[in-house]
Amino acid sequence: MFSSSPKNIAILGATGSIGRSTLEIVHRLPERFRVTYLTANTNVALLRDQISLFKPKGVVLLDRRRAEELRKELGSSVEVLSGEEGLCEIVRRDDVDIVVSALVGFAGLKPTIEAIRHKKLIALANKETLVVAGALMTKLATENGARMIPVDSEHSAIFQCLVGEDRKDIARLFLTASGGPFLNTPVEQFASRSVKQALNHPNWNMGKKITIDSATLMNKGLEVMEACWLFGLPAEKIEIVVHPQSIIHSMVEFVDGSMKAQLGLPDMKLPIQYALTYPERVYLNGGRVNISTLQSMTFLEPDRKKFRCLQLAYDALAIGGTAPAALNAANEVAVDAFLHERISFSHIPELIERALESHTSISAPELPQIIEADRSARTLVQQFIA
Ligand code: NAD
Ligand code: MG
Repeated sequence: MFSSSPKNIAILGATGSIGRSTLEIVHRLPERFRVTYLTANTNVALLRDQISLFKPKGVVLLDRRRAEELRKELGSSVEVLSGEEGLCEIVRRDDVDIVVSALVGFAGLKPTIEAIRHKKLIALANKETLVVAGALMTKLATENGARMIPVDSEHSAIFQCLVGEDRKDIARLFLTASGGPFLNTPVEQFASRSVKQALNHPNWNMGKKITIDSATLMNKGLEVMEACWLFGLPAEKIEIVVHPQSIIHSMVEFVDGSMKAQLGLPDMKLPIQYALTYPERVYLNGGRVNISTLQSMTFLEPDRKKFRCLQLAYDALAIGGTAPAALNAANEVAVDAFLHERISFSHIPELIERALESHTSISAPELPQIIEADRSARTLVQQFIA
């Protein structure tokens, strides 16, 4: 029986795909976790339901006007904060032990850094923060003794494979990729792929932005950078392998040739729960891999010519400095434009390539330079689109 007092959790991005799955886990483990803060961008209706079920002390809405309306409605029962300052404010508080970083994109950077500075345990889903500011975040985490535990399924798989191992014994990491909905689509048809087709991921049910990143394979490029920072390895030691069944979530090869893999059904609840209960494992009420009915598992090399976004991510990683921040910002703007049917699917890599070519990277950037790289790449891609 679990005996210590419940840990207080703040969920940044509670109304999103990861946020909702986190709440399902927390709901089943009330003796371990208590939700103290929830945050949302605009989905007030869902946030209201979450407030009545989880009774947090406070919530943050990005939009000030919506926050003001909710404040009036809720009276003194729940504190309502707003804006990025609200997000940074709650992660600093003493009634937060664990911060689930599940905002999408660059918007999660400042609050995640603030949580690291305040020595919180970070369950990190928001990979874009490590892509744009990996050096800064890992340095701050070491200085402050803050721990980042990966939620991304591949990185959780590697993290699980490394329990009891010495990092110096790692020979290579293998990040698996489903290949997305266009794995077998000829590149000539990319320009005519619709938003609906791109959102139709074969194995995973996720937020829209990451689903498009999975269709372009940008997601895997971002994950290579995420793995570099989380496990302190150069890109040459990280291989991508396309595994369309999404049963093996990633693998580690050690110096003696031994390989470990983590398997499971494609359900984010497992890596989220592991990040929250680590180093313990707790029963999870979900599906199980049925080995006897698994017909086959296949593995292919990714095609960087067809999926140009993946090559562009490697290019940005090789340039280093602020180049990954420019790549990420360009990708966020391009994906948003695609989702709003302002550009075609094949315009996404074109725009990112132009943004990277125009960017002058600054090495070893501090936060202000990263913010400026993000801002200027965003503006540029918006101009290209207009
Ligand atoms: P989502 O779009 O479903 O949810 C995003 C959340 O962030 C929502 O609560 C939204 O209200 C909030 N938000 C968005 N923009 C904001 C802003 N500017 N300011 C404040 N709040 C804002 O996204 P998701 O799929 O849950 O993904 C979240 C993160 O987790 C991403 O970085 C993604 O790459 C990563 N991730 C997701 C999955 C998955 O299965 N969904 C898997 C691995 C990693
Ligand atoms: Mg992943």
